Amino acid sequence: MTAPVQSIVVVGAGTMGSGIALTAAQAGIHAVQCDFSQTQLEKARSYHQKQLSRLLEKQKITAQDAEAIRTRIEYATDYAHASGAAFVIEAASENPDLKKKLFKSFADTFPSGTVFASNTSSISITDIASAVGPCADHVIGMHFFNPVPVMRLVEVIRGLATSEQTLSRTLDLARAMGKTPVPANDRAGFVSNRVLMPMINEAFFAWMEGVARPEDIDQIMVLGCNLPMGPLRLADFIGLDVCHDIMMVLSRELGDPKYFPCPLLRQLVTAGRLGDKTMRGVFEYTPRG
Ligand code: NAD
Repeated sequence: MTAPVQSIVVVGAGTMGSGIALTAAQAGIHAVQCDFSQTQLEKARSYHQKQLSRLLEKQKITAQDAEAIRTRIEYATDYAHASGAAFVIEAASENPDLKKKLFKSFADTFPSGTVFASNTSSISITDIASAVGPCADHVIGMHFFNPVPVMRLVEVIRGLATSEQTLSRTLDLARAMGKTPVPANDRAGFVSNRVLMPMINEAFFAWMEGVARPEDIDQIMVLGCNLPMGPLRLADFIGLDVCHDIMMVLSRELGDPKYFPCPLLRQLVTAGRLGDKTMRGVFEYTPRG
């Protein structure tokens, strides 16, 4: 068991990054929430405030707790000043080139003991690690689920060079954040998305082919298969762009046309209907809060 992590950097302040920073702060860890977009940082701040107000209203935390959690989160457009952090968790957009560029910059910025974890849903950890040269043993996958404060699993993915020490520090951090880490090997989509995303993609095909209306597809899967939420609504919450990108990675890496994204999913993404984050995906939504 290594010393408890005091401070982390979370790169990306979107759906996942904002949830990871909040969960860390709730667990007593100082979190530097980074994004190159000031607008995204402001959205993350407002999400954090709303979540804390809700917990306060429900009397799950006290006003002092809420204030302490709030002060543990720092918002920044870069991470150069945070090089004392034990972990960097990257939750930027699902794009291999972007992630490799970010990891190269982490290796140039942070001291050699820092763990670099990616929240990627599907990109190979070994591939991301190829960008950091000799620090590849410090690179690992830390796949949180949405919404992060609620979902208990962290799928932990070891790349080819990931060391035992990096693995054990990551398992410790996940547990310290109140999560259950489960290991998976470094294959496209790991376990969760290898199984889940083709089901979501198939729901789009069923809708496109007129097998049933979207709400009926979801109801059939909820009532008949005992899912907590239908696959199309889940796609809206994950983000249709994220679902599309994951299918593209599965398709490219596993080389089977069955993984190619459904044309209707592609069309919705092109139209900017990305799910609840844009207020419209398969279904329509009111603003988050
Ligand atoms: P998102 O689009 O909500 O957020 C991505 C954020 O990354 C944006 O705020 C964007 O401004 C930021 N970003 C892009 N380039 C950056 C850079 N160079 N430096 C700093 N910030 C940058 O995406 P998301 O849904 O939060 O997904 C983030 C990651 O988490 C992806 O790898 C995704 O596959 C993974 N993931 C998503 C889900 C989900 O349900 N949405 C679940 C598990 C994992």
